[in-house]
Formats: sequence, structure tokens, C-alpha cells
Amino acid sequence: MIRVLVWNENYHEKTSEKVAAVYPDGIHNAIAAFLGAEEDIEVKTATLEDESCGITPEILAETDVLLWWGHVRHGLVPDEVANMVRDAVLDGMGVIFLHSAHHSKPFKTLLGTSANLTWRESCDEEIVWVVEPSHPITRGIDRYFKLENEETYGEPFVIPTPDKLLFISNFSGGEVFRSGCLWERGNGKVFYFQPGHETFPTYYVPEVQTVIRNAVRFVAPTYRQRITCPHVRKITDNEPYVR
Ligand code: ZN
Repeated sequence: MIRVLVWNENYHEKTSEKVAAVYPDGIHNAIAAFLGAEEDIEVKTATLEDESCGITPEILAETDVLLWWGHVRHGLVPDEVANMVRDAVLDGMGVIFLHSAHHSKPFKTLLGTSANLTWRESCDEEIVWVVEPSHPITRGIDRYFKLENEETYGEPFVIPTPDKLLFISNFSGGEVFRSGCLWERGNGKVFYFQPGHETFPTYYVPEVQTVIRNAVRFVAPTYRQRITCPHVRKITDNEPYVR
């Protein structure tokens, strides 16, 4: 089983009728619902309202893949929580950052850049294009899929050049954006997927769900181990390796 934790700041759902109408149980539960329907995935959720954001080293140790959605409450996530997530990823935990989580502390801590981008809420249509049809995360997606309305995100997107660029999007207003990006950090894999503005029913779109399901399976750990900085003897000394 892949143990998934879906984290959401869960703010707009409580403060905006428009958002609550789309995600009455919160974005985290909408995502947990379709992931939890998979036989090989078991899902828990956590939100900003939970003690320590619902994130502790013990919880992360029992999490294979963390999904993160945040927007206007990034600053309320303690630095220690962001660092816990970073350390778990360096050890091998997989992480998926969704939509406006590009500005979350864990994302910026892992990638080391501002993650700034250009944006506009104008209900543009988005076309999400597959860049690498052979990659496991794009499996089941045709050349492209359309989202009738999404928030427009545009370049420049201030990120390290992805190890793999899996999706690029164009918007009806003219912008293009690197909408599916994959990095390795330490033993862990980091995937960013841009669709998912809170006022649109994006997480109910079958292709979006397919990408997220694929990503969960792809970033799940294959090797999870804290890599330390040991002082070691020569191998000819026949001493056991000490981590
Ligand atoms: Zn948004």
C-alpha cells in the first residue's frame, strides 16, 4: 500500500461560498476521495488547523507521499514544519505540490528559488500538453487535455530547471507555463502540477485525477534512508561501514 497524506490549508472553503460550493468538504477530501478509491493507496488528510499542521516527524515517517495545497496561509505554516517536510523528502518521501503550493514554504525550501510566476484570474481555458508521452506520470493522457476554466499561470516561473518537464500548458489569454515539473532532491522525488484553482472543479476532471494518481505511484519511495555525513576508514581497514 502507498500511504498518502493530503495536506490543505482549508481556508477558502470556509470563507468563500463560491469555493465551498465547489469543494463542500474541502479540497483535501476531494483529492482523498479519488485517491482512496484505489486499491493500492490508503489516504489520510491534514490541515493547517491541526496541531503542528498535522505534520510531525512520526507522521511523515509513516507517509510515503505527501500532497500539498495552500494559497493564502503559507506564512502560517511554521518553518519547522517546512523543514520536517524537506528532511523527509531528502530521506526519500515523495511529495506533490499542487497549484498555488508553488509559494508554499516546503516547495521553496526544497527548490531554493522564489517560485514566482505571472498570474491572472480571468477564467481562461487551459490546454495541458504532454511533453513526455513515455513517462509514467503522463500515462493514460492523450496528447493534451483541456480545462474549461483555470486560473492563468504564466512564465517566467522562477524554479530550478526541472529534471523532467512532463507538461506545458497554454492559456486562451496567450500565456504558456511549465505545468508539470519533476525534480529529485536527495532520495526523494518532487512533482509540481499546476491545475487546481479553488473556484473551479478541476480536481473532479478525470485527466487531472489520472495525473495525480500516476504521480503518487511514481514519487512513492523506492529507497528511504537518512544519508548522513560519516567519517569513515579506508575500505582496506575491514571496519564495518558506520552511517
Ligand atoms: Zn489559484
